[in-house]
Amino acid sequence: MTPILALDFETANERRDSACAVGLAWIADGAVVRRESRLIRPPDLRFSPGNIRVHGIVPADVRTQPTFPEVMAEFLPDLASGLVLAHNAGFDMGVLRASLVAYGLRPPAFSYLCTVQIARRVFPAEEGCGLGKVAARLGIRFEHHDAGEDAYACAEIALAAMRRTGAPDIFGLSRAIRLPITTMPEGPDRVLPPRAGPGPSSDCARSGPRLPPPLSFTVKGSRGDRYAITLEDRATGLRLRCTCMAGRYGTACRHVAALLVGDITDLLSGNHDDVERLRLRMEAAAEP
Ligand SMILES: [Zn+2]
Repeated sequence: MTPILALDFETANERRDSACAVGLAWIADGAVVRRESRLIRPPDLRFSPGNIRVHGIVPADVRTQPTFPEVMAEFLPDLASGLVLAHNAGFDMGVLRASLVAYGLRPPAFSYLCTVQIARRVFPAEEGCGLGKVAARLGIRFEHHDAGEDAYACAEIALAAMRRTGAPDIFGLSRAIRLPITTMPEGPDRVLPPRAGPGPSSDCARSGPRLPPPLSFTVKGSRGDRYAITLEDRATGLRLRCTCMAGRYGTACRHVAALLVGDITDLLSGNHDDVERLRLRMEAAAEP
């Protein structure tokens, strides 16, 4: 099932890549089913007084918090494969994209709907469709300008709109109010894809000192996608890179975890021997 989740960022200053807090709220079967919020350490600790006045977050609150990629790795698979809701979505989608780019990560294509536009169509009023105003009209109780609370209120607005229009889900709502889902295109590509290593046969033809053969694997993801896993020999040690969403954002993914324990259930490339070679090389590298 497509994840549907509301997203809200707070920023430290006027820059889109200065996120200092994120809130998320997932909806399913007509209700908010999960809520998360995290503080984020922005690239630098410059906080504008105006921004502090809005959200109350100060540098000391985020100094020891994880960075944007570290915080978002957990949520990006859902954001990238799902439908994102945000109140004034242009802002939050802009923060998401600018922050990924600032850290040299390639933004995937995100699909989203703006709940301001939903509210304008379903709950119009002279006072406007600011988050606080719409929430008050609908009787949604929340602490405005806390990222987690704002995301929750945004999700509740979408749910209220579905109930009001009788739409069975968010896609039905999109059709009913003629508000098409927007897709933010992929890229820009600041990250070089892992280079496909030469196969074992061409390795013999290489000149120079003989290096251990490069190890690469193709695995099948849970949705049938194919991912490439490559062993990289870096100055900092051996590292397995996977082209799946989690892998691209530098988190441990289950594909790598499976290979490391010799689980070849989803191995498509058929090089079972290399799985054992991989295990031996990782073991050797772990020796003191
Ligand atoms: Zn993976």
